[in-house]
Amino acid sequence: MSSILVFCRDCGKQVPSSETKDQLCLDCQVRRSMADLRDEHARLWRKRERYRSHEAANVGQIARQIARVEDRMASRIRELVSNERRAGELLQRELEAARGQRYTIKGV
Ligand SMILES: [Zn+2]
Repeated sequence: MSSILVFCRDCGKQVPSSETKDQLCLDCQVRRSMADLRDEHARLWRKRERYRSHEAANVGQIARQIARVEDRMASRIRELVSNERRAGELLQRELEAARGQRYTIKGV
């Protein structure tokens, strides 16, 4: 089956229609599917930053919660992306974005 090229309605990239869903490319599908987990990750990450200086026990517990959220991100990406290498790249991107987010969140 040959597939035609379409524009992703989010990022505007041209992608094979077979890779799109709701006119979204795979990258954008993954990014959107991460929204709630990324918020959760950001919340935990900020919490850990707050505790870091004075409550070591809590820091360990929060680190485990963060690891669980990251596991859920990984499995959600694997549900969307059948290509394993691609899934790995996208997970890396999402994790970097989630972990880097704390620098852009203000007033917390
Ligand atoms: Zn896109």
